[in-house]
Formats: sequence, structure tokens, C-alpha cells
Amino acid sequence: MYEIPVTLTSNPKKKPEDESKLGFGKIFTDHMFIMDYELGRGWYDARVVPYAPFVMDPACTVFHYAQEIFEGMKCYRRKDGGLQLFRPRDNFARMNRSAERMGMPAIDVEQALAGLLALIKADADWVPSAPGTSLYIRPTMISTDVMLGVHASHTYRFFIICSPSGAYYPKGLAPVGIYVEPELVRAVKGGVGFTKTGGNYAASILAGDIAEKKGYEQVLWLDGKENKYIEEVGSMNMFFKFKDALVTPPLLGSILGGITRDSIIKLARHMGVPVDERRITVEDVFEAAEKGELEEAFGSGTAAVVSPVGRLAWKEREITISGGQIGSLTQKFYDTLTGIQFGELEDPFGWVLRVDD
Ligand SMILES: *Cc1c(COP(=O)(O)O)cnc(C)c1O
Repeated sequence: MYEIPVTLTSNPKKKPEDESKLGFGKIFTDHMFIMDYELGRGWYDARVVPYAPFVMDPACTVFHYAQEIFEGMKCYRRKDGGLQLFRPRDNFARMNRSAERMGMPAIDVEQALAGLLALIKADADWVPSAPGTSLYIRPTMISTDVMLGVHASHTYRFFIICSPSGAYYPKGLAPVGIYVEPELVRAVKGGVGFTKTGGNYAASILAGDIAEKKGYEQVLWLDGKENKYIEEVGSMNMFFKFKDALVTPPLLGSILGGITRDSIIKLARHMGVPVDERRITVEDVFEAAEKGELEEAFGSGTAAVVSPVGRLAWKEREITISGGQIGSLTQKFYDTLTGIQFGELEDPFGWVLRVDD
């Protein structure tokens, strides 16, 4: 339905030879998808072109006022060599929710998907095949008006770049230590916490540095009003498995509605595990852990799928969860979701989109 013109590079880059050393987000493929927007005209010139830097005016609004949104998803290589995406329309639909809040234009989900598929076709050889590796996909939208006045831009650029990425857990699922940020705040209700916008990340970098210096890998944010309800980890939603139910904070405007979060909720219900989307304080979590009623805790996000939490630190207190090991339910979610994503398990939910069909 959408014709996406493709200009292939005449100068392909050398592909990484050792897929065990890919890391994350450091190498980019040969092509990118771009389309531009102008008020009154809409999106135009959707195209796949060779990957290259943008030339931008230093007065471009995105540099000054951060009208910017992004997405993150992956393309997976099956054992038979074919490629597949996981819930890509949900990513583009979420991008439109971010766009609305940030005063940016909506994209046509089917056009963006057609652009992504044309890009993946051009860069298919860049999708790695070693176990656990994938092609990370980064759709982005930026404002491009050249002016210093604070107004919604009249022009925008939407682009998609791709990066072959290594296995998140080359040595098996390793539990992480998490630092509950006692003072700094990431987002509040009514703000932009539910959008995937760069500013949320900019606001989180200082706390990330503090946590790292204290020996923890991630920051867990509390609500911005009372500083006691669990919100989310930097780029992951949180789940706690108590004796009676799996609990995750509800989507009330300050946290991002993760597609992995939604998949885990649906998977849990499918498996007969009761799920409770409710507010939960950090005090509740620590008390439950001290009484032996907290069985497992994990973060969820596209990059790691699930990330088991082994230690949780808050002010002067620290708890160990699942004896610092991976909980059995956490492992089950990881195995089932990655199994579906890589095409090794049946997909009863209709989440997978085969690129080659
Ligand atoms: C991207 C992101 C997540 C995870 O979302 P997924 O769709 O599961 O990858 C969680 N929290 C924040 C703040 C994010 O930016």
C-alpha cells in the first residue's frame, strides 16, 4: 500500500565478525528510514537512504527545547533464518501517544511500519544470528524549526536507525542490585512521565551516577508527590511477586506503559497467575521481604526482557530477594517471552509479525 523508495548504499560498511562482542547501541547498519513533516502538508518524502549524519542548524528547536520522542523495539532472527518483529504496531501507537503530549504530529502507524519493513529488508544481513542477539530498532521524531521562540515546531523529522545488539545476558540471567532514589524525582502525574521522550532520561542521569557510585546497577524511582509509591526503573517497569499475586504499579500518567509489561500481564493471566495493578509503597515491599512474603522482583523492558532484582537498597536499608538468585516465575516469563520473540514457541497472542511473509 505504501511505496517506500529505497536508495541502497554504494559503500556498505564491514559487518561485525564476532557477534559475542556486539554490546548495545554502538554499531549502526547501512541504511535508515526518514520522512519529513510540514504543517499543512503532513508527512512527505518517506524513504530509505544510506545511513549518514544530519546537517542541522544550531538554532533548531530540538537542541534548545527538546521536542523529541523515541521508541525501542527489536527484530529477531529465527532458527530457520527468517526475521520477525514483536508487536511493532504497539510501539508506533505508543509513539503517537507520546507525540500528542509533546505537541508533535501523529504518524500513520501503517506507513511507519511499511518504512520499517523496507529498512529491515535493505539491512537484513545486519540482523545477527548468535543466540540472544537481535537488531535493536530506534524510531525517533525531532522538531526541526529554526527559531528560539518557545512554540510547537511547524516542521519535524521522523527517522528509524538500527543497531545489531549482543545478548543481554551472555552468561545467563544475572540478578541486579537496585537503588531506590530517596530524593530526586523523575516524573509527576500531569507531566511527561508516560511518554518516551529524551528529557525523562536527561532527568535520570544524575541519579544513575549516584547509584553506580554506591554499587548499584539501576535506579528505582518513587512517585514525585509523596515519595513513597514505587514507580519504575530507568527504562523498565517493575513487578513484585508476593505470596498471593504478581503486583505492578498502575499506569496513572507518570510511568511508561511498557509493551513488555503488558505482555507479562497477559502471559501471567494466561498461566493462571493472579495479577494486581495497584499502587504499592516501598515500605510495603521492604516489610513483605522482611516477613518472607516477597518471593521475586524483576524489571521488564525490551532490552533485557526481564531483569531479576537480587538486592534492593532504600535509605539505610537493604533487602536480598530470592536469595540473590533468579526466581522461578521470572525465569518462566523470560523463557516464554524470548521463546515467542525468537519464534521457538507458539504465539497464542498474535504478537509476532514475520518480516518475510
Ligand atoms: C522504554 C521504557 C520502558 C520499557 O518499555 P518496553 O515497551 O517494555 O520496552 C519502561 N520505562 C521507561 C521509562 C521506558 O522508557
